[in-house]
Amino acid sequence: MSHVIQPGSTLGVLGSGQLGRMFAIAARRLGYRVHVLSPDDDTPTGQVADLEIRAAYDDLDAVAKFARGVNVVTFEFENVPAATTAACERFAPVRPGGHVLHTSQNRLREKTFLQNASIPVTPFWPVRSQADLAAALAQSSYPAVLKTADWGYDGKGQAKIAAPADAAVYAEPKFAGGEAVLEAFIDFQCEVSVVAARGADGSFVAYGPVENSHSRHILDLSVCPAAVAPRVAQQAVEIAREILQRLEVVGVLCVEFFVDRQDRLLVNELAPRPHNSGHFTIDACTTCQFEQQVRAVCGLPLGSPRQHRPAAMANLLGDLWQVGAQGARSQEPGASETNWPAALAHSDVKLHLYGKAEPRVGRKMGHLTALADTPQQAAERVLAARAALTA
Ligand code: AMP
Repeated sequence: MSHVIQPGSTLGVLGSGQLGRMFAIAARRLGYRVHVLSPDDDTPTGQVADLEIRAAYDDLDAVAKFARGVNVVTFEFENVPAATTAACERFAPVRPGGHVLHTSQNRLREKTFLQNASIPVTPFWPVRSQADLAAALAQSSYPAVLKTADWGYDGKGQAKIAAPADAAVYAEPKFAGGEAVLEAFIDFQCEVSVVAARGADGSFVAYGPVENSHSRHILDLSVCPAAVAPRVAQQAVEIAREILQRLEVVGVLCVEFFVDRQDRLLVNELAPRPHNSGHFTIDACTTCQFEQQVRAVCGLPLGSPRQHRPAAMANLLGDLWQVGAQGARSQEPGASETNWPAALAHSDVKLHLYGKAEPRVGRKMGHLTALADTPQQAAERVLAARAALTA
């Protein structure tokens, strides 16, 4: 049992947003201490951690000091610099390992890994010059989607290319002629995700598939179980199993898919951490995705992912606090104009707020989860609860 990081030990988290917060809450419930390092203070994670260290990720002395004080290091966002995880690895295991981050930090590396593993992936072409883009567009059809290879999330660093003239976007600042990937535009019937956990002993559990709807490229609504054929659901979980195994993930990883009009699954992207589409697991499952992360990185047995009831989750973005036709007014969470009692009027609706003071447009401030007898009813219930907040 010496490889088990026992409750009472200290877990280190790189990154201090809501994913770290919900991880820290799960860790503390199991009796662990939590240290967090990020460039900010009074953060969503720091508010519930035992120790909040404010330091830049490239301040390797501070990173080493942080790693010396913990028994294992994990992270809540995938863009942790490689030098940071390398500095941690000298003092504590990093789980999932730096190689998982390396693959998932760059869309080209990620898609190449998937393709080499014979996993169905959105057709793509590497783009490193305007000539590459012209050649790629000659092979793909219109529309296509151009994405920066690095630092992309929530639709950032993306442009739709609907006609040859749109290729000029590659010279604009968001691409600046750098490394990018051109993807075929998928006319999908729906988007689904599987959130899965893998232990150091190779044990595996999965949630979903979850059906996801986006608004302005940001996740808006997740419903589980997804309305897909059982064969598709099973395939999605098997693909996730294959990915976690090949990457030797010790921790949690989310696989996002498109389901095309022929019921084929295509992997869109990977996130090597708990995922927004897995938040429903806190209220709907025996063991939530954050507890699985704790268990996996500590070498404890994974818990049952069993879902008790259909569930739906709706994000609460900062936009909600800007009510009125003019969108002129903003307010703090908890101010009287936000009708929390109305949102919580149904007893099967649960509220999660992340402790962020400033409600900026597009900023994830919290989420609501509703449980119901059917996925459709859960979706209606959570959307009604969200609408009641500002009615
Ligand atoms: P991403 O940041 O790559 O996850 O993209 C954000 C969202 O943009 C996805 O969840 C889709 O809704 C949409 N999107 C991205 N790539 C494509 C694509 N190749 N075809 C169709 N829709 C896409």
